[in-house]
Amino acid sequence: MRQPLVLGNWKMNGSLKDNRELLQGLVEGLNVDAGVGVCPPAVYIPQAVELLQGTNIAVGSQDVSAHGAGAYTGELQSSMLKEVGCAYALVGHSERREYHGESNAQVAEKFQAAQASGLVPVLCIGETIEQREAETTLDVIAAQLKAVIDKVGESAFSSAVVAYEPVWAIGTGKTATPEQAQEVHKFIRAQLGAVGKGVQILYGGSVKADNAESLFAKPDIDGALVGGASLKVQEFIAICSAAAKG
Ligand code: PEP
Repeated sequence: MRQPLVLGNWKMNGSLKDNRELLQGLVEGLNVDAGVGVCPPAVYIPQAVELLQGTNIAVGSQDVSAHGAGAYTGELQSSMLKEVGCAYALVGHSERREYHGESNAQVAEKFQAAQASGLVPVLCIGETIEQREAETTLDVIAAQLKAVIDKVGESAFSSAVVAYEPVWAIGTGKTATPEQAQEVHKFIRAQLGAVGKGVQILYGGSVKADNAESLFAKPDIDGALVGGASLKVQEFIAICSAAAKG
């Protein structure tokens, strides 16, 4: 039985004041039987950890370095993120792949580095609109997964999360239909072999309170990675509640 999970990706948003209001709102308003986490900009991770102490809300990072300590200016080592209280690390978010040129191989290294420090990697994968229109979605997904499986093996996914995020649905207001998402989630699970049935597979891409329930009703959609809507307390709480109802 897979526990529902909702993670909020704040991207490059927030301030000490806004974060405090948002996190206090979550602490006061969230009472759901689902895993919940937030991924603030890295400088705010300690603030989030402190404000969420004693709650069930986890903290994650939006990225992680593939490297160990050393001359990597601007990077954050996985053990550092673990030390300051992160439980999760997003790896391979499409904005990292697009704006920072992260390849499947680099994403696989980040996945491995995160796990080596005891973080749960959240592997983000998804196709562009051109790839969907060319009917290569499943090939793209298979290649993104294969790079990681080749590096760490299928069994490593027993302590990892996968987020299917069609690039064309991220921040655009366009959501994959529950049927489109379910098709890909089922495919991802099958690609993961024997461990697949236990892996939490999240959907991401313009998830809102009013479309969450129909997505979570699908058998292979275990929750969501939420961007824009995770910055609005009531909207995020409503999504978490929908995930708990499953
Ligand atoms: C994301 O950033 O992972 C995401 C899914 O964003 P949004 O919900 O805003 O589409």
